[in-house]
Amino acid sequence: MGDIKILEHQSLRAYNTFGVEAKAQWFTTFNSTEALHGVLSARLPIAFILGGGSNLLLTRDVPGLVAKNEIGGIQIESETDDAIVVSAGGGVVWHHFVQWCVSGGYGGIENLSLIPGTVGAAPIQNIGAYGVEIKDVFEYLEALELATGVIRTFRAADCHFGYRDSIFKNQLTGQYCIVKVAFRLTKTRHQLKTTYGAIQDTLKEMGIAHPDIAAISEAVIRIRSSKLPDPARLGNAGSFFKNPEIEETQFFALQQAFPSIVHFPTGDGRQKIPAGWLIEQCGWKGKRTGDAGCYEKQALVLVNYGDANGHEIYALAQDIMDSVDRKFGIRLTPEVNVI
Ligand SMILES: Cc1cc2nc3c(=O)[nH]c(=O)nc-3n(C[C@H](O)[C@H](O)[C@H](O)COP(=O)(O)OP(=O)(O)OC[C@H]3O[C@@H](n4cnc5c(N)ncnc54)[C@H](O)[C@@H]3O)c2cc1C
Repeated sequence: MGDIKILEHQSLRAYNTFGVEAKAQWFTTFNSTEALHGVLSARLPIAFILGGGSNLLLTRDVPGLVAKNEIGGIQIESETDDAIVVSAGGGVVWHHFVQWCVSGGYGGIENLSLIPGTVGAAPIQNIGAYGVEIKDVFEYLEALELATGVIRTFRAADCHFGYRDSIFKNQLTGQYCIVKVAFRLTKTRHQLKTTYGAIQDTLKEMGIAHPDIAAISEAVIRIRSSKLPDPARLGNAGSFFKNPEIEETQFFALQQAFPSIVHFPTGDGRQKIPAGWLIEQCGWKGKRTGDAGCYEKQALVLVNYGDANGHEIYALAQDIMDSVDRKFGIRLTPEVNVI
């Protein structure tokens, strides 16, 4: 089992990308399933499993044990001439995994370049960007049930993936630690997704007419670096809210009142409205209360200008939710896990 070192009253400031102060009653790390079993044998109440802390807002000190997943390793599980199944430990940094795959010539996750966080957290909200979600390439995951220590394999159908959603954010919240995730990627005939967002424009700027997966990864990195604040310089957790999906009847009524409303059909008779547009229309973009603010370049991102605490950021989020609700009759929901 090795040595398990459990710290008391550990500051989590360096472990969350908002950079807010909060203390964990107990804190530990583990780098293997055996080590995690050792952590569980201490019989302390587990508050939550921590990855890169890039989808968290800590609004208070945390009672119980925060256990940080540092399980490493990338492995080829099987391959044919055309396809490959690659798995990674839950603590592997997501972008390192993407880079490893892109440089090996394995396609499917290049559009997800530069998303912060760990491989183990990626299935929890079915991370997505620029027209790709991990459910598109997901093969299986292994998760350790915290109550029993038993490892269970989840296939895609078991995960109930949805838009920024999975069973791990619903029925199974807090019950499992995802220790390994496997992806099915392409070795030939890559299904490039270049139609979304600014990818085409950026490829043009790069002078690339026939992109490969490395070029798409590079384009995504350029777009993201110019659009999103770097948490190392300005605390944030990416998009704070989900883009709401509304029924068409509600949408048509809103379109009457707000003809410029931005919308995307979801394909199932509903319309997705960019939360950033709704927030901007309510005048929040660039607004700041103390050190908590709504990012000047992208209203969907809430930022910590320095010493905001999680409570202040959450109060700002609630004010934004209330004002969007008053103006549009739409209740935004946070994408970020508020603790
Ligand atoms: C600048 C920026 C840009 C972002 N852009 C995107 C984007 O384009 N698309 C997108 O989808 N997301 C985006 N995000 C959100 C974030 O990167 C993802 O949600 C990421 O998957 C979170 O990983 P993490 O390791 O940091 O998770 P954490 O923040 O550490 O944890 C998030 C939740 O998952 C739980 N958890 C973490 N690891 C495990 C595990 N191994 N087993 C069980 N539970 C676990 C935690 O308890 C917590 O509830 C962005 C964030 C930032 C800061």
